[in-house]
This record gives sequence, C-alpha cells and structure tokens, in this order.
Amino acid sequence: MSARVLDGRALSKKITREARALSRSIKRRRGHAPCLAIVAAAHASARSYLQAKLRACAAAGVKASVRQLAAGPRARVLDRLARIAADPGVDAVLVESPYPAGLSTAEVAAVLPPGKDAEGLSPAIYGRLFLAKSWKEARGLIAPCTAAAVARLALAAKTPLAGRRAVVIGRSIVVGQPAAHLLSALDLTVTLAHHLTRGLPALCREADVLVAAAGRPGLVKPSWIKRGALVIDVGVSLAQGRLVGDVAPGAAARAAYLTPVPGGVGPVTTAVAVLQAARLAAAALNIQRRLHAPTNPAHRGLSKSNLRAFLFPS
Ligand code: NAD
Repeated sequence: MSARVLDGRALSKKITREARALSRSIKRRRGHAPCLAIVAAAHASARSYLQAKLRACAAAGVKASVRQLAAGPRARVLDRLARIAADPGVDAVLVESPYPAGLSTAEVAAVLPPGKDAEGLSPAIYGRLFLAKSWKEARGLIAPCTAAAVARLALAAKTPLAGRRAVVIGRSIVVGQPAAHLLSALDLTVTLAHHLTRGLPALCREADVLVAAAGRPGLVKPSWIKRGALVIDVGVSLAQGRLVGDVAPGAAARAAYLTPVPGGVGPVTTAVAVLQAARLAAAALNIQRRLHAPTNPAHRGLSKSNLRAFLFPS
C-alpha cells in the first residue's frame, strides 16, 4: 500500500476561491477590496513565506499591505503594531513569526483587535473558538490558521472521522492545542502529546489520525503509524538545505493518506489566513455573521444564556 498524497496546493486553491467570492461581495458593497496588513519579519528565511502570502492575496483579490516593524524597545514595537491594526484602511492583520523584538504570542495577540485578527490568536477570538463544542459551531469561526488547515486537510481525505482516535504531537498555543480542539469538534477522540509524553510510539500506533506538529525532523517513524492512518505532517524544518517534516520517509508505506512537506499544510495555512482576512472584512460589513465576542458582554447587558445566542447566531 502507498498512501494517497493529500495535496495542500489543490486544497489551497479551493479555499482561495472561497476568499475570492467573499472579496468580490465586499468590493461590490463598499467599492474596494479587503485589505490584509502583513507585518513582515525582517529575517531572510521569512521572505519566501511573505512571497507566498502575497501570491495568495493576489489570487483571492485581497489587497496586501506589507508593513515593517522597526526594531526597538518592546513597548514601542507593540505601540506601532497597535497603530497598524487601528488603521481604518486595514481590515485584518497578520504578524509573521518569529515576532520582532522577541515578543511573545500573548503580547502580540493582546494588541490585535479581535475584529482584525486574521491569525485567530487574540483572546476573544481564541476563546470563542474554544467555546464551540461542535464542528458546526466552529467551522465558520476565525481559528489559528495552521490548526484550521489541519482540520480542512482531515476533511479533504473524505474518510470517516467521527469516533476515531487522533493523536496530535505538539501542544503549542498556535498549532497543537487548537488543532486538537478542532479535531475534537469533528468528533474524534483526541490525545494531545508533547515532549514529556511517555510511550509516544505506542500512542501513535493507536491513532487513526496522526498530526505531527513538534518541529522535530523525522520524529515519527514508519513503525509508529497505524496501517491505514491519515497522517498530517505540520512540521517544517531545514535539514541539509531541504525542507523536511516531522514524519520520517517510509511513512507512505503504512499510511492511507499523507500530507507532503512542502506542499501540504503550508499552502493551506496561507490560504486560510487570506480567507480569514476576507471573513473579518465581511463580518465588519455584516455580510457574514459576527466572528468575535463583544469586548465585555456584561457591559452590553448580555445574560449568560443570550451570550450563547450572540456568539452562535443560527
Ligand atoms: P513549538 O516549538 O511552539 O511547539 C512544539 C511542540 O512540540 C511542544 O508542545 C513540544 O512539547 C512538542 N515536542 C517537541 N519535541 C517533541 C518530541 N520529541 N516528542 C513529542 N513532542 C515534542 O512549535 P509550533 O510553533 O507548534 O510548530 C511546530 C512545527 O510546525 C514546527 O516545525 C513549525 O515550523 C511548524 N509549523 C508549520 C506551519 C505551516 O504552515 N506548515 C505553521 C506553523 C508551524
């Protein structure tokens, strides 16, 4: 048996078509396309990622506005980021990682207004995602882009998911945790593993869906993979001048579905980011449902029960 390759580039084209349709509606409504501010990291390795984002924006009819964050004291860098986000010409913001001035995810997320957070990391957006109990509730929400890419790739395999077992290796706030949550919303039974997890190979051998997001090249050996599993390789590392994933060569002989590196999760992540930018612009125009929680529901007089109706309008 050789695994079917889950082609991220093909799926990214489909997502880009969704973004383009939304972008057209926005343009019809207000006369100009949605604008995504990409706050670019200065280091060289980020350049190819930036080019990929610019291509994805162009394909989706989303205006990309590249902003550089000059190095400086943290407070000044954060203030500049807040001012980029406050620009009325900007509908959504994406901050490339690694973040400038050694800023943490939490620091960056805290200054992004939820209504403009294309990465889904600001507390209101992130929290709202975790309030969603089912895929029906979660699927239209803004989510951390790579986690959303994992869920979309799992669905693209068109293999039954409900009731099956999933193992996610890596529990980062940006990838592993939200990916585990989305797979749980898809009714899988999920184990979230990390660097201190004991008996990882045996756990993996139980997994019908295996997501590798540790950033350790070749961590997942072919012998760890259950025959017929769906394997999503999120890891991207540079080894001997090549991009490699967390899944060692040879996995295709046991898996039924496998995402390649490169060409798997990466292009889907980029397309999701652009789609989410368009969704935020659409939500601001009330073309789509609200995508974020009110800043302080209590101040808006919402009771606990109607807060739910507010968050998940039918
Ligand atoms: P991270 O460093 O924040 O988290 C890594 C996680 O992996 C941690 O929870 C850690 O406990 C776990 N881990 C590390 N070594 C392990 C081991 N030996 N066994 C089990 N668990 C282990 O990384 P991240 O930001 O979540 O990124 C993970 C990988 O995904 C990286 O390779 C990154 O480049 C890649 N990534 C790819 C995309 C994409 O679009 N393709 C996007 C984001 C991240």
